Amino acid sequence: MPRHQQPSLFKHTKSSQQGKSVSIQGAVVREVTCKSLLNHSSIGDYSFNCYTGCTNGCVYCYARFMQRFHPHDEPWGRFVDVKVNATDVLAKQLRRLTPGSVFTCSACDGWQSVEGHYKLTRRCCQMLLDAGFHLNILTKSELVLRDLDIFRGRDVRLGVTITTPNEDIARLWEPKASAVSSRLKVLKEAKAAGLETAVMFGPLLPEISDTPEVLAQLFSLAAKAGVDRIWTDTLNPRPRVWPSVQELLRQHWPKLYEHYRRLLFNRTCRAKYVDELDQRVRRAACKAGLARRLG
Ligand code: SF4
Repeated sequence: MPRHQQPSLFKHTKSSQQGKSVSIQGAVVREVTCKSLLNHSSIGDYSFNCYTGCTNGCVYCYARFMQRFHPHDEPWGRFVDVKVNATDVLAKQLRRLTPGSVFTCSACDGWQSVEGHYKLTRRCCQMLLDAGFHLNILTKSELVLRDLDIFRGRDVRLGVTITTPNEDIARLWEPKASAVSSRLKVLKEAKAAGLETAVMFGPLLPEISDTPEVLAQLFSLAAKAGVDRIWTDTLNPRPRVWPSVQELLRQHWPKLYEHYRRLLFNRTCRAKYVDELDQRVRRAACKAGLARRLG
């Protein structure tokens, strides 16, 4: 049986008989095919995405640039295309590619909710590990814990992204991602399973999660979780990001709107900010005894 003959969501829904898409939890899911899955990447040697679109719907997500190449009527966060032949395509690619490090995933969360049904990221991870590739995973989804059985004892670094320690604020910026406490649980269980762990603090949100107080909280969480590697990231003025960021700011932090606009679009202000933030991050890492784990 070809690998892509996994159970389709469409068999079980009325809309599958009527059209090519189905709406699940407010997002439109489509089954598509791809020609290539594993791509060369600037983050590690390769990256792959079994899904186009990401229902986590983070307000600052730069992957929304994908809509330029794969236009959708729905806004970012409200659609996901499932590459149902992902494992077949990967199997063909693995016959000719040299093993290396694979960033998992670069333009979606590989463990967003549809992965619970399709298990495509899981199967691709298994195939990559069997072929001698190293996995560098970054996710905001607790679902990744489902796959600890295939990661245990293998060449895997399991990381989570945390933007803020505040659950309410996280819910506003990352509406459908797992709770911050669940992401910390991922770190804890991955560590207990003997995996190398990592955390990405970012994008650090100016005046919301980039203050010395919040940075101290974040690094304290990293210390408690015994994280092996820590990265940070700034909010970037990438294409299509500003409209959603400014909308959220206008609703919840109207006084910060001008501040963000300056930091994102005024080159001098931005350069100064990036430099100051870097120093603040280093001070927080030093205080938490984690300076050497900062990547
Ligand atoms: S989890 Fe990552 S890819 Fe998904 S919406 Fe959030 S930032 Fe974008």
